[in-house]
Amino acid sequence: MTHLQQFNEFLSSAREVVIVTHHKPDADALGSSLGLAAYLKKKGHQVFVITPSDYPSFLNWLPGNDEVIIYNDRIENQIAERVAKAEIIFCLDFSALGRINSIGEMIRKSSAKKVLIDHHLEPEKFADFEQWDPKAASTAGLVYELLIELGDRTKIDADIADCLYAGLLTDTGGFRHNNTRREEFMIASDLVSLGANPTKVSKLIYDTNTLERLRLMGYVLSEKLVVLPEYKTAYMTLNQEELKKFGSQSGDTEGFVNYGLSIEGIRLSVMIYQRNDEVKLSFRSLGDFSVNEMARKYFNGGGHKNASGGTSSTSLQATLENFLKILPEYKEKLLSEK
Ligand code: 5GP
Ligand code: MN
Repeated sequence: MTHLQQFNEFLSSAREVVIVTHHKPDADALGSSLGLAAYLKKKGHQVFVITPSDYPSFLNWLPGNDEVIIYNDRIENQIAERVAKAEIIFCLDFSALGRINSIGEMIRKSSAKKVLIDHHLEPEKFADFEQWDPKAASTAGLVYELLIELGDRTKIDADIADCLYAGLLTDTGGFRHNNTRREEFMIASDLVSLGANPTKVSKLIYDTNTLERLRLMGYVLSEKLVVLPEYKTAYMTLNQEELKKFGSQSGDTEGFVNYGLSIEGIRLSVMIYQRNDEVKLSFRSLGDFSVNEMARKYFNGGGHKNASGGTSSTSLQATLENFLKILPEYKEKLLSEK
């Protein structure tokens, strides 16, 4: 099924479909999944969107959100059944089955056709059909392109357009990151002509805060942001007690890491925080410095050249010490590259 035509033929009869996205889905992961789900439903398929974990409540407005099946141990069997029954499984906005816990194994075992729609570097080869482009700023943009290639532009309604626009908006950092090409504006423009509402989506995603999140951000910026000019690096850490003190919800720390990068002369910014029983790292960089390489090599992670993530199973303090220990290895690159 490596060709679009075979893929299209497979979808010409009603299918049982599962769409899965990455752990702690962001607006691109969830927006692209819900946009694709709404489209496939219109085509007469039965579609289930499964997320491997919960996600921030500021994404709950996305059309179709109410039907998302959020994984937890108690419904493991129900999810396993859905995955086993699926005839086609779409994996959106991630490229390694190892990133989605036990659902990854269920997918690996399944005899369903597998489709990868993604833009992360170095994908695992497991899919029968791939819509993969690391130059694309968002998975949502790749879903849009797929629907266009399938000749189904007219099936993109305002809800689907809003879902896809949300992914495009956030993965380009509001059309500011260096992954924002001419194509991203072209897609955005067409989504707006199909009914996407940029003012509404921006307000719901960027300009909707809880007071607790704003207070947490104030605390992080005034008390927790550390700058290491000799490495052109900024970092911040948050432990469980601090997160609890500010009544933090899932996703509240999203975007904090970017503030480190906005300091003049800083090329690498890292946010390290406790998340349940693991430590999560968020990396951002400017120019040629690849955080993907650093996240992959030392923190069991990956992503894009200038935006990556990873995890650590040691304590927050030990993770920070480890990060500070490896920093000298990158000193030359941090100081010399453009
Ligand atoms: P964030 O820092 O916003 O969580 O993630 C930045 C980018 O890195 C996103 O594209 C995300 O999908 C990717 N990413 C985040 N965490 C991980 C991880 O643990 N493993 C891998 N492979 N990619 C990650
Ligand atoms: Mn993405």
